[in-house]
Amino acid sequence: MNAPTPAATPATPATPAVKKPAGRAGRNLELPEHLKAYKGVWVFLEHERGQVHTVSWELLGEARKLADTLGSAVSVVVLGGPAEPLEQFAAQAFTYGADKAYVVHDAVLQGYRNEPFTKGLTDLVNKYQPEILLLGATSMGRDLAGSVATTLLTGLTADCTELNIDPVSRALAATRPTFGGSLLCTIMTLAYRPQMATVRPRVMAMPQAQAGRGGEIVQETLGMVESAIVTKLLDFIADASSNKINLPYADVIVSGGKGLKNPENFKLVFELARVLGGEVGATRPCVQAGWVEAERQVGQTGKTVRPKLYIAAGISGAIQHRVGMESADVIVAINTDPNAPIFDFAHYGIVGNALQVLPALTQAFAEHLSRGGRHAA
Ligand SMILES: Cc1cc2nc3c(=O)[nH]c(=O)nc-3n(C[C@H](O)[C@H](O)[C@H](O)COP(=O)(O)OP(=O)(O)OC[C@H]3O[C@@H](n4cnc5c(N)ncnc54)[C@H](O)[C@@H]3O)c2cc1C
Repeated sequence: MNAPTPAATPATPATPAVKKPAGRAGRNLELPEHLKAYKGVWVFLEHERGQVHTVSWELLGEARKLADTLGSAVSVVVLGGPAEPLEQFAAQAFTYGADKAYVVHDAVLQGYRNEPFTKGLTDLVNKYQPEILLLGATSMGRDLAGSVATTLLTGLTADCTELNIDPVSRALAATRPTFGGSLLCTIMTLAYRPQMATVRPRVMAMPQAQAGRGGEIVQETLGMVESAIVTKLLDFIADASSNKINLPYADVIVSGGKGLKNPENFKLVFELARVLGGEVGATRPCVQAGWVEAERQVGQTGKTVRPKLYIAAGISGAIQHRVGMESADVIVAINTDPNAPIFDFAHYGIVGNALQVLPALTQAFAEHLSRGGRHAA
């Protein structure tokens, strides 16, 4: 007997797989469950040759505000050699708003190298899971932030000018210039942790230190041997010019632009700066023309400054220059064109020829100061 032929089961049409749209439309905007445990705001404390970089304190001021909004704590990461005073740096960090410091002493962390510092920071992040990680946009910070972000497969917003917490998503809203500085964009890392950002020195205000404020120090180990590191630190040769021009932290800056016409006229800027005990800045075209050193460029692709007094001579006030100096307490602009954009945001404007106004100011200040007048700064 033939076995009955099983009735053919009607074929159920296979549920078509939901296709993820391509490109940005397909990006994940939801924070995966395992990343929801990430809490707290961290600052990488940058130090070199016994000095903590001031940008780290500026970042701590911002970290404190972000953490207060989130209702979380602020921690710093301090990596260095066996004999370096890392606990002392941590104690200083507590006065600027940190609650906790993760400290790692190791011989391979003596002097900055990318590999051991990347391992040190990523290991700590993986273990303690911070929500936000901030670094200074310095040579060291930029180098480290990029490799840490790629190792952790998370987002990094570089050169931010503002940091906030988005009230809806509770994500870090990191604002930075875009399209050559003509627009500001706010970037959020919604689906990855930690949310990383770098900020240039002097972009954020220096917080007030609170003497006597303490915190907890957590000692950690690195677990990396010298033979595993490709880069070798043979010697430290200080850049002879790097300490000579300290534009970001100058109290008085006299800057010149293309309105000065030629490099010889730039000496008028140097003379006024000398009398005022200040530094000399410049716009990018002056640097590109070789009138002054690149370290003197103020602006989006130069230095960010925050002096008490900024005198801008023959500078139009283009947005790319403005973003580097608009936080100055007092801006004085000298320009022949009464409609120059710089007059839109300068506190005091002198419509006139800088080649005449600069020597007049130099003479007036020299006379005033020689009579015992107060220094401008
Ligand atoms: C991606 C990008 C990044 C940039 N980054 C920077 C940056 O970091 N920093 C920066 O500065 N620029 C930067 N720039 C360039 C910027 O856009 C402007 O071109 C530049 O700032 C203009 O420089 P300036 O004011 O010296 O020259 P100009 O725009 O040519 O202005 C000269 C001014 O001098 C005035 N003037 C002329 N004669 C006299 C006189 N005798 N006395 C007084 N005033 C006089 C004129 O009225 C004019 O306002 C960047 C541009 C791009 C695209």
